[in-house]
Amino acid sequence: MNNKAMQQARAALVLHPRCGAHCRRTGQPCRNPAMANGRCRMHGGKSTGRPTIHGRYTKAALAQRAGWLAVERSLRALIDKSE
Ligand SMILES: [Zn+2]
Repeated sequence: MNNKAMQQARAALVLHPRCGAHCRRTGQPCRNPAMANGRCRMHGGKSTGRPTIHGRYTKAALAQRAGWLAVERSLRALIDKSE
């Protein structure tokens, strides 16, 4: 990264949303740059939350749909070949 790009990155960081996690040492918000979910990398920013155990997005449901999509693709390929 060249010097100008570095300066632009630093300027953008000033306006970036901040982590609001409570700091046990100071009692103030954390203030590190926040990730997409509003928390910094040390306060759950990388976390997607607890595991999904019910409904459309459980690992089992996703795997099942992926399996059916693979079957559908192979059947469509078969149909295309026979035409
Ligand atoms: Zn934080």
